[in-house]
Amino acid sequence: MSMAYDPGNIFAKILKGDIPSHGVYEDEDTYAFMDVMPQAPGHVLVIPKVPSRNMLDADPAVLAKVIPVVQKIARAAQDAFEADGIFIAQFNEPAAGQTVFHLHFHVIPRHEDQPLRPHTGKMEDGAVLAANAEKLRAALAQAV
Ligand code: 5GP
Repeated sequence: MSMAYDPGNIFAKILKGDIPSHGVYEDEDTYAFMDVMPQAPGHVLVIPKVPSRNMLDADPAVLAKVIPVVQKIARAAQDAFEADGIFIAQFNEPAAGQTVFHLHFHVIPRHEDQPLRPHTGKMEDGAVLAANAEKLRAALAQAV
């Protein structure tokens, strides 16, 4: 059963600029910004600009645009946060943990011995998000 896309979802509002976000990367097709409830420092969300609810209804052509950006952000996050690993997550429908219904990929730096914080746990301080966004932008600027 396929579910409809709700144009009033929070990421649609972020794309329109109606809700502020800490952007780290943008191109014609994609936008990447800091998750407000990070599961680890440097947790980024990468979204296509075209409306899709999740992977189940997304056009493969949209995925072909967004996945290289997920990789670009993952590499920048590894550099910026000296990560031991990068966790990439993506949930489809509430039963799988999806809470915002505009397709997004979580890019989460991981360090040995540092447990992942809960999904949609605690709101991070705006200054911390801004500083981490700046670190990522600097790493992206260094990337070849
Ligand atoms: P999902 O559960 O749908 O995969 O994840 C949604 C993510 O969006 C969560 O990690 C949550 O912290 C994040 N999130 C929810 N509301 C906002 C918001 O208003 N701004 C930002 N930047 N992230 C949000």
